[in-house]
Amino acid sequence: MAETYILQNLPYEYGALAPVISEEQLKLHHQKHHNSYIVNANALLKKIMDARKNNSEISIKHSTKDLTFNIAGHILHSLFWESLRKPRQANEPNGEILKAINLEFGSFERFKKEFSDAALSTEGSGWAVLMQDKKTKNILICQIEKHHVNLIPEMNILLVLDVWEHAYYLDYKNERAKYIENFWQIVNWDEVSNRLKDKNNSMKGGKK
Ligand code: FE
Repeated sequence: MAETYILQNLPYEYGALAPVISEEQLKLHHQKHHNSYIVNANALLKKIMDARKNNSEISIKHSTKDLTFNIAGHILHSLFWESLRKPRQANEPNGEILKAINLEFGSFERFKKEFSDAALSTEGSGWAVLMQDKKTKNILICQIEKHHVNLIPEMNILLVLDVWEHAYYLDYKNERAKYIENFWQIVNWDEVSNRLKDKNNSMKGGKK
């Protein structure tokens, strides 16, 4: 098999996001839940490779579906960890990302409301996502169900919020709304801004 997926360390200590996300909650989410997608993806890849080597039968339908779920879960969690930083009361974006938000949503407050609504109304387990269309450069909000349903191809993901219960149940029990409200204190807007810049630069063939 080619390369396997590995669980990267978080870019901060497990206690860094408290009290918005406690050390215990974050550790469990990263070491158990996120890690399980990596373990599953690697196991599936091995199973597929072994079947090819032995020329044995394998359910391609089930394998590819499971693989998509687990790899997408790994990628979204990696993006999520990088989107966060230690809590700040007045935590608002500025520069290009604020300009893009104002242009699309009218105001940061309006964007916050729409994104929060998307997170709150995601059915079952899923994600609220802010993404940018590479061609039109419009930014838009979408809901990803599980880790891979409702994904639009070729979109640049700028910000994600995990609203699976496993992301907040220790700290918030069933109160998803409270978790979403507090999430705004820990958004790493510098990282979101960098993603926007990177994407816009790469559209010009990497030239600035
Ligand atoms: Fe999660």
